[in-house]
Amino acid sequence: MKRRNFIKLSAMGTAAVAVSACENSLIGQKQSTILNFPISSPKIISTWNHGLAANNKAWEVLNKNGSALDAVEQGVRTTESDESNRSVGLGGLPDATGKVTLDACIMDHKFNCGSVSFLQNIENPISVARKIMEETPHVMLSGKGAYNFAIEKGFKHKELLIPETKLAWEKLMSSNSQKKPQINSENHDTIGLLAIDNKGNISGACTTSGWAYKLHGRVGDSPIIGAGLYVDNEIGGACATGLGEAVIKICGSHTVVELMRQGHSPNNACKLAVERIIKSNENLEGLQVGFIALNKKGEYGAYSVYSGFNYALKDESSNKMIDAAYEMEW
Ligand code: ASP
Repeated sequence: MKRRNFIKLSAMGTAAVAVSACENSLIGQKQSTILNFPISSPKIISTWNHGLAANNKAWEVLNKNGSALDAVEQGVRTTESDESNRSVGLGGLPDATGKVTLDACIMDHKFNCGSVSFLQNIENPISVARKIMEETPHVMLSGKGAYNFAIEKGFKHKELLIPETKLAWEKLMSSNSQKKPQINSENHDTIGLLAIDNKGNISGACTTSGWAYKLHGRVGDSPIIGAGLYVDNEIGGACATGLGEAVIKICGSHTVVELMRQGHSPNNACKLAVERIIKSNENLEGLQVGFIALNKKGEYGAYSVYSGFNYALKDESSNKMIDAAYEMEW
């Protein structure tokens, strides 16, 4: 597997300074008003290998001077519509009853956020989440209500279980196996994507079909603002992937952003959040969680419980995979 080839990276210890940054055109350069450092040029960071394609799509938006919000939505839509991907949107693995149920959320630079959970038969849940954010007074819609809302807004009903995933589910069900697959470093791959645009604004998106063969009705961290995703435009953003139950317990992404506010670098903030995951779970066997983070200066980082987590970084010079630092060898 591509993700298995890793080296342990040491945590970058440099403290990032928490800032209250805003646009201030001095000799044509954007500066933070408080610490007077230049705000980052456009940058995108996203989870796993599928992040490369999502980053490219998001970059097209940023390149045309589009907003970070448009970029993150367009970026992860690519992953949701990629039939070959087994963990997000179309082609995602189903729950124990053979239904593909989706969780997603989106957050902009003004604390606006939208979310869908337990949504079925809609190919691009992230765009439904954005519609909820922009066209309703709510943050989250769930299940049938989210589906009805999507249909009303013109989204099309679609079967998301494809022949390959149907077959895999049928095989599993007929195997009589008492031990159903667990989330571990092999079978989870939410896409979380964070972007900074030309104005220095940060937005984020997170979308998944969740834990393969989960109980019908299970919702993970990915649609929960503060767990799967959090953005505070003064500081930065963070996304999570891995065992959602463990991420929810520590409000993972919000924790990472708050740690950056306290002065930790993105890498160190992710590491400290992972340490909190480790502390809050007695049984760590196969319990994989990874965080990515991006701050206002454009500094980025990631950290995971086990080896095996990587992320895609796009800026004007390249789009490349980086192996995350981690706590334990898988
Ligand atoms: N975080 C997701 C969930 O718990 C799983 C994943 O990262 O694929 O639903």
